[in-house]
Amino acid sequence: MRNLNLMEKKMLIDTHCHLDDEAFANDVANIVAAARNAGVERMITQGTSISSSLDCIALAEEFPEVYAAIAIHPNCLMEELPALGSDDVFLDIFTKMAENPRVRAIGETGVDLYWHDTPVNIQKKFLALHFELSRRTQLPVIIHCRDAEEDLLKVARNDFDKNGPVPGVIHSFSGNTDFLKACLELDFHISYSGSVTFKNKCFDSLRETVPLVPENRLLVETDSPYLTPMPFRGKIKRNTPEMVTHTARFIAEIRGISEENIQETTTQNTKKLFQID
Ligand SMILES: [Zn+2]
Repeated sequence: MRNLNLMEKKMLIDTHCHLDDEAFANDVANIVAAARNAGVERMITQGTSISSSLDCIALAEEFPEVYAAIAIHPNCLMEELPALGSDDVFLDIFTKMAENPRVRAIGETGVDLYWHDTPVNIQKKFLALHFELSRRTQLPVIIHCRDAEEDLLKVARNDFDKNGPVPGVIHSFSGNTDFLKACLELDFHISYSGSVTFKNKCFDSLRETVPLVPENRLLVETDSPYLTPMPFRGKIKRNTPEMVTHTARFIAEIRGISEENIQETTTQNTKKLFQID
């Protein structure tokens, strides 16, 4: 009985993974089972295009542990534009998709100036449209930000000033304490991925943010198959949702709290934000 209680206690949710990625082709059942065995009992798989969002919904319908997020990733926008035609078509397609009860978030959207796949003005316009979609569907947003903090904050602040806060999360947070402060002011949650464990000096300013996130805003994720946490980075061929346990442990150490505490806190926060049971 005691063991059972301990097992029940050990639960984490991977708030951001890409189970439709080709790295997991024909293997999702094994990945989900391995996650469960590691105590990762829920995961949210992220849509990056219309077809990827539909694939994520199909996975969420197949596996009770999996929930879907739907959106167009900033780096995929140019490929999707011909299918969209107008802003209203985009909003209609995704509003309809969001009617599926397995859909729990609008993600991933955002701004990415590292890759040069989409002109920044188009990325910003669609980030604002995804905020609008979040209001229409009453679903939280999952936001990607790579080398684009200023542009992202501009869109988010503009929306905040006009419409008030949108519930959401900055996924795979990679900023410094100033960016953290700005994101918290906008009411966003903060999700850490394996990148927080990377040894490179340039991640020191990211690690400085870890103790500063209020307990009720903290989430964890893998962004798998990418961003494998240390000490497995470069040693395994793909990241998987079960690896979120390592990132959670790392964060618990920095914050000076127990593993049970980080599990409980992040799971509570995730369940509340995404209305997951
Ligand atoms: Zn992602």
